[in-house]
Amino acid sequence: MNTSPDSLQRFLFEAAPIRGEFVHLDASWRSVLARHDYPLPLRSLLGELMAAAALMAAMLKLQQGSLILQIQGHGPVSLLVVECSGDLQVRATAKWDGELAAGSSATELIGDGRFVITLDQKTGGQVYQGIVALEGESVAAMLQNYMLRSEQLETHLWLAADGEHAAGLMLQKLPEQAGGDDDAWPRVGALAETVTAAELLALTAPELLHRLYHEEDVRLFDAQPVAFGCSCSRENVAEMLKMIGSDEVDAVLEEQGSIQVCCEFCNQCYVFEEDDVDEIFAAPAVVTPDEIQH
Ligand SMILES: [Zn+2]
Repeated sequence: MNTSPDSLQRFLFEAAPIRGEFVHLDASWRSVLARHDYPLPLRSLLGELMAAAALMAAMLKLQQGSLILQIQGHGPVSLLVVECSGDLQVRATAKWDGELAAGSSATELIGDGRFVITLDQKTGGQVYQGIVALEGESVAAMLQNYMLRSEQLETHLWLAADGEHAAGLMLQKLPEQAGGDDDAWPRVGALAETVTAAELLALTAPELLHRLYHEEDVRLFDAQPVAFGCSCSRENVAEMLKMIGSDEVDAVLEEQGSIQVCCEFCNQCYVFEEDDVDEIFAAPAVVTPDEIQH
């Protein structure tokens, strides 16, 4: 086997203030592709964004909750969404309109738009959201520009995706140490520039680091597994229906006989019949003293 399974590995340059990560996605990416028939040009964008989300979620060291990256555009591709949880479960979806011309660039597909990054702590804790205008010719460039502004840390990304794999390499320059190796950042970056998309998709982390940095002292940490995972549930859909309100839900029920809600990420559909809807909007059960007795 010459490709690694779905995993993410961090690494550190021992003699320079630079850290990095490499992610490789196989089954998790194919799980996304199996659920929607995405046109070819869109696949590259979504796979690249998925690799980037895993890299960024790992860098943020989320304990709980998740990181959501969204690209909203005015071009034929109007939306790309990837969510990655702290334990590296990823899911992704996209919206597009009409035929997408082969060989189109990210800018041609997305057009003007904005990049939205959301950190959802999930435990009732705070939700952080950052929104910036899209800048850059590729998904990697768009993210680099965002990182430079928000994190104030120079971060470089190399991303690639095809119909089988998605992969990403990230390098981040940490604050300088006195007497450090001043040439390290440009040297390490220039070597990473030589990596091809084919290499990113085919090589394991040890192979890639050997190919690029066999003359540097690099510490490679243990691989963390990455997997496809969707957090949707019947309970969550019921909660959503409750928020929409009984008037609107009843109207749909009357028109269509039942309510069907399908998850945009995993395509799982949840059907609610009239009885189910009644139950959702029923007043909370009141326990009578009679029932408590036995
Ligand atoms: Zn789902």
